[in-house]
Order: sequence, then C-alpha cells, then structure tokens
Amino acid sequence: MNSIVLRGGRVIDPASALDGDYDVLVRDGRIAAVERAGALKSIQDAEMVDASGWWIVPGLIDPHVHLRDPGFPEKETISTGLRAAAAGGFTTVAAMANTSPVNDSPATTRYMLDRAGDAHSARLAPVSAVTKGLRGIELVDFAAMLEAGARLFSDDGVPIDDAMILSRALDETKRLGYAVSLHEEDRALSCEGALNAGAVSKRLGVSGYTDSAESQRVRRDLALAIGSGAAVHIAHVSTAESLALIRAARRHGAQVTCEVTPHHFTLDESAALTWGPNAKMNPPLRNRDDVEALHAAIADGTIDMIATDHAPHDPRSKRMEQLGVFFGPGHPAQHLDHDNAEEFAHAANGVVGLETALGLGLQLVHRSLIQPARLVEMMSLNPAALLRLEAGTLAEEGIADITVIDPNLEWTVAPEKFLSRSRNTPFAGMRLKGRAVMTIVGGEIVYDGRKA
Ligand SMILES: [Zn+2]
Repeated sequence: MNSIVLRGGRVIDPASALDGDYDVLVRDGRIAAVERAGALKSIQDAEMVDASGWWIVPGLIDPHVHLRDPGFPEKETISTGLRAAAAGGFTTVAAMANTSPVNDSPATTRYMLDRAGDAHSARLAPVSAVTKGLRGIELVDFAAMLEAGARLFSDDGVPIDDAMILSRALDETKRLGYAVSLHEEDRALSCEGALNAGAVSKRLGVSGYTDSAESQRVRRDLALAIGSGAAVHIAHVSTAESLALIRAARRHGAQVTCEVTPHHFTLDESAALTWGPNAKMNPPLRNRDDVEALHAAIADGTIDMIATDHAPHDPRSKRMEQLGVFFGPGHPAQHLDHDNAEEFAHAANGVVGLETALGLGLQLVHRSLIQPARLVEMMSLNPAALLRLEAGTLAEEGIADITVIDPNLEWTVAPEKFLSRSRNTPFAGMRLKGRAVMTIVGGEIVYDGRKA
C-alpha cells in the first residue's frame, strides 16, 4: 500500500493529549509515526502533503445518519451517502435502521456493509433496530445483529412507546455491552406537530410540537437507564429541559450520553419562515432560549457529541411543488390556509447534514464557545466510544482514519454541489469558514478537496 506524509499540520488529538505542529506518516493503512514538525523530511515513495495551516484530526464520526438504502434510492444510496460523508470530513457514519426492509436482520446488516465496501469511501457502522420492523413489539436478536456487524441499537424515526419492551432491550444491550440510541418523543403530546409550538407555528397556522413531548419521554427513559444501569444515548437533544434532566440523571449514576445536531444548535424555529419544509424535522427547531441552552451544554460538556441526523428527502416527499412558492430567502412566509397547512404537516421530516456539519461545528470554535480539541472530542473521540470503534485517535499503530481540515477556508453552501442525492437543507447560501480538505480512510485518500 502507499504511504502519505502530512507535513507540518496542527495535530489535534485529545485522546493522546496532542495539540501542536507535527508530521504524520501513514503507511499500510496505519499511522506509522507522529513526529515533531520537520522531522519527516523525505520518506521513500511517500506522497508528501504540505499541511501547514491545516488541522490533522482523527477521522470524524457521525453517530446518526439515514442513508435510505435499502429502499429509497431516489433520496440516497449507501454509495452517494458515504461519498457525501467523506466530502464532509467523515470517515465513519452510523446508518440508522429505518430503511426498507428495516435493518432488523443480519442479512440486511450484511447488505449494508457489502454496499459500503463497494463504495470505497467513508465507512458505515450499521445501527440495528431495537424492535422488529420498528413496530415496538418484538425485540430483534441482539447478539445476532452484533455478530453481523451492528454497533448500536435504535428504532430512530419512531420512539419506543412500550416501557417494558425498552426495559427488556436495555437488559439485553447491557449484557452485551452496547448502547441504545433513543428518539425521544411522546406521540400523545407531539400530536404530529409540524413545528415547535410557539410564535412561528402560530404565525404559519401549522400544528405545534411542544418541548414536553421530548422531555417527558427523556424523563421516563432516564429513569429506566438509572434502574437498569444500561448505557443509553439520547438522540438529537433539542430542549433546555432535556438537558437539565440529563444532568440530573448523571448525578444519579445514569450511563447516559447525548448528541446535538448542527441544525438545532445553529437555527431556531424562525428558520421555517424562510425555508419552509426544508426547516422541518423531528424534533423541530426550537426557540432562542433552547438554542442558548444547547450552546451552554456544548461548552460545559453536558453534550457529548455532534450528530447530523442526515435525512435526505426528494422534493416530492417535502411537498415542495405545493409549498415551495410560499417560502424562500427574502420573503418570509405568512399564514398558510388550511389545505397548505395540512400539506406542511405531511411534508417529510429531516434535513441533509453531512456536507455542512463540520463548517457549522467550526462556527462554535470561531466564536470561541469551545476549543478545537473539544470539537474533535464531539465529532470523533466520543462517537467512537459510543460505537465501540477502534478510532477517534491518531495514536501510532492505529488505523489511519484521518480528516485534514482547513479551518479558515471560506465557502458558500451550494446544495447543487452536494454529493448527497438530496438537497433539503436550510443552509443554502450560508457563508461558512472551514471545511475538510482531505479525508483518509484506512490510509487511502477517499476525498481530496484540494481538487475541489
Ligand atoms: Zn430521530
């Protein structure tokens, strides 16, 4: 295999407590050496990359994406999704189970891993369903799913309503040593709300989704976590109250981690006035106070990791033909009539995120909310631990999954250039500072932004 020398970049590797200028030698798919900058001058047959001014960090890992494969190739495939991931700087993404068929069988897990192998791009970490068909009734065979390659369990997309089913799942996953990722929604309270219940949902005339719909379910599940001692992971935390509950549960010994999405920490509910269905997701964008609470929780360590919840959708699923005319930059929408409000409620939930997450995460650094090492913890080290991957560090002898970042490169989000098959983003036209310039997986360059 080939060798690469990344010369004179700022190596940021919190697992090794490294933050400074180093040369990194990649050989035979592994990190062969990390030496002080200038030490690795000429290595035989190695590709020399001048990384001065760039960051060299352990490959970014996203614990929550939807790749729509098998089942929905008009939205995304494993191949397009993994290429989008690599372009965003991710070396591994955890693909959720709400595909068709649902990933509740070893055969589907193996299909996903086979397609990922064919893609020669970022890696895929399969997430197994907790219950067969995501129906919340019958548990999957947890051991068989792990044997096939699953790294996490989740019914994401739908909550697990039956507390007894979840308790039994937690007993199993605790025994096996893996976590359950939880989509926290009490559907009796969310009532298929289209947007956060508040000023914006009222102004548009669409149904509201209260924050208690999330926090009531978080409360129940943290009690189950404390009772069982099992590892639980709270997906896409969106409210101040959920964060307070997580802090309290940790004080009571809960083994709980949590994630936040870039859209929840960057935007508030008002984004729906401009972007309409492309700012509609579950849980919804919240109000300013919640966004500030998310920032505080990122800064104080309550939030463990960033997850994109990458959710590609075609314009038809987003009802853009009917609703697109009401929205767009420069003309915030007004009250929708009854029929269009209904259309809005039925537009698919979710936004793409793989190609904007790093730029949005870097905003937290540029605004001095967090240090670069904390961003690397949230986007690599901590998700690696959740998924129990041999990754998240640049330690010598480790697998060479590496992301090279130009933290100061200014660029404009242009959805038409996405490698993802879908374009549903509320960040079109946004100016961002910083992006991946090179993504290395197992010692191979799978994305080279120097040519972009
Ligand atoms: Zn979810």
